[in-house]
Amino acid sequence: LGAGFDLSIAAAVDSTEIGALLQRLVEADTSNPPGNERVAAETLRSFLTAAGLQCTIQELGGGRANLIARLGTDETPSIMLNGHLDTMPAGSGWNSDPHKAEITGDRLVGLGAADMKAGLAAAAGAAAAIARIGARLHGTLVVTAVADEESQGLGARALMAAGVSADCAVVTEPTELRLMVAGNGQIDYEVAITGIPAHASTPWEGRNAILGARPLLALLEAEAQRLRQVRHPLTGSASLNVGQIRGGTNPSVVAADCQVTLDRRLIPGESLETAVRELDAVVEAVRLRCPKLRFEGRPLLAIPPLEQPVNLPIAQILREAGWPVTGRMLALGGLSATTDAQTFVAAGVPTVVFGPGSIAHAAHRANEAVSLTETTQAAKILALAVTKFLEE
Ligand SMILES: [Zn+2]
Repeated sequence: LGAGFDLSIAAAVDSTEIGALLQRLVEADTSNPPGNERVAAETLRSFLTAAGLQCTIQELGGGRANLIARLGTDETPSIMLNGHLDTMPAGSGWNSDPHKAEITGDRLVGLGAADMKAGLAAAAGAAAAIARIGARLHGTLVVTAVADEESQGLGARALMAAGVSADCAVVTEPTELRLMVAGNGQIDYEVAITGIPAHASTPWEGRNAILGARPLLALLEAEAQRLRQVRHPLTGSASLNVGQIRGGTNPSVVAADCQVTLDRRLIPGESLETAVRELDAVVEAVRLRCPKLRFEGRPLLAIPPLEQPVNLPIAQILREAGWPVTGRMLALGGLSATTDAQTFVAAGVPTVVFGPGSIAHAAHRANEAVSLTETTQAAKILALAVTKFLEE
């Protein structure tokens, strides 16, 4: 196990340059909205150009951009390392300036450190090591960094629309160095309730849409209980959360409308179509209970679950590349959050997720931090896996 890897490539990975790059990436403020990813794309461009990659910036307008960098001469096979440039807004509770990278021992603290500027630095550091050592690649390494993953995923879609593709991809989102071949999908679904307005002094003249939310919520709660039992060995259980309710205009008016919006997570094996039909059935059930109100359900967003075969060549190679770096195969895991991986799979690119840092313990919260050692380990594993993939 772990045989057949060129260990000189792991040795060429430079933890100092990766730490310095990560620091610059964290200090480029790309909180989304508005994103402003171009500043971080430029940081990566200068690093990767100096390392010997061919870089282009895909302009998306309004200070937003993707970076595309290539190494290698042959067309095929090709492998893409991908990450997103944007971060969530900083929020409150920080003990330091979120836009300054504070290094204490092995920890680098700053907004986006784990999600996922460490993953970008690891991918770029791996590419730089491969370029530096002059490894002969039979194919192409494509490093891409995209805008807007934390919102609509427009960067990843623009990348695919521009014809950037590969035979496989690794999204370097934080997975604590586990290999994710499965991930939950997501449907956002809105139920619009329509009643009849009336003056509050004579509510019996109208039909109160807000009161229609009560039986709807009871049915949705029963559905949420059922979904907790729908389980996947790698990604946990399916779920349903009512996250938003809006309704009415004024205490003195019988509410003519009310909207209930929910987030449904799907485990691998569930289909978007079936899950939407199940939600439609809940809406149908509440219609029968409240015939005097109108209920209309519709999906606002639909991202399929991620489900890649464990025996995918890049998955096997990455797992084994764990050996020379960490002393064991990479553990398999499942993602509970959605990523750009689903966009690449939908475009026909087999994609797995692997990277430094922790979603559960660091991402989207104050004092976000990442281990510099783990970031360098990720870079080494990526460098070994890429060169192995491109020698076969
Ligand atoms: Zn992320």
